Amino acid sequence: LIANVTSTRDAGPMIPGVKNVIAISSGKGGVGKSTVTANLAVALHRSGAKVGIIDADISGPSIPVMFGAENMQPTITPKDGKNYINPIRQYGIKMISIGFLTPPDSAIVWRGPMASQALKQFFGDTDWGELDYLLIDLPPGTSDIHLTLVQTVPVTGAVIVTTPQKVALADASKGMAMFRQPQINVPILGVVENMSWFTPEELPEHQYFIFGKGGGQSLADKFDVPLLGQIPLVQGIRESGDEGRPAVMNVNPIVNDAFRDAAESLAQQV
Ligand code: ADP
Ligand code: MG
Repeated sequence: LIANVTSTRDAGPMIPGVKNVIAISSGKGGVGKSTVTANLAVALHRSGAKVGIIDADISGPSIPVMFGAENMQPTITPKDGKNYINPIRQYGIKMISIGFLTPPDSAIVWRGPMASQALKQFFGDTDWGELDYLLIDLPPGTSDIHLTLVQTVPVTGAVIVTTPQKVALADASKGMAMFRQPQINVPILGVVENMSWFTPEELPEHQYFIFGKGGGQSLADKFDVPLLGQIPLVQGIRESGDEGRPAVMNVNPIVNDAFRDAAESLAQQV
């Protein structure tokens, strides 16, 4: 598959007005890509940046739920003889997801080319306006969608999300190797270690390393990229995701500081 991919340098033109396209990727599912995407987006927005999200997890879109926007439907505006999708705007973030365009609870069983077509439309047929960052919440692993992404737009770089545990790190390592393939050639901006330790909200000074310790740093070292941040496992992060408000919008200094630091480190890499 990879052998047929042209270099990112041959990718289509950058979306006018969008400064940085950042792929949020992981090897393994369930490590917190969507959670990290949602909270980084809000943290970057708080620092004054204009931020958008493309939910590229076509069969498992989480962004609409995490932003409490699952019942919203994008409108269409004709412009210069073409129809443009207006992204949903929630908490200051522009976003598009297959979840906005399909009935709730519908299972998306699409072949690769259809999913790729959807992603192309999210880039080319959406009226993004001016953005500093367009974050792409990718499906886990290495898929058609990853290839479509690098063939469709010049990607500024990838952020790798992993938990500190061995099986997640092994998969993350494969994902990073993919971005380094000469034909793909997307810079890896750094690693975000999620679920770094468990902190009970009533005992914020306690840290339990239930998924192990130091895994994110060793992965970052192996690929000679920075560890952009460590996000603790906190019940409130899960709850706020389910409630449709990214956790950084609540007042928990541990959570807020972790995502703010990760957002600042990311901003320094682009
Ligand atoms: P992915 O997009 O990688 O599949 P998700 O972001 O959907 O992963 O996260 C998987 C589950 O773990 C979700 O229920 C989410 O709320 C929860 N979760 C993710 N990160 C954290 C965290 N740091 N603390 C608590 N729960 C988390
Ligand atoms: Mg996800």
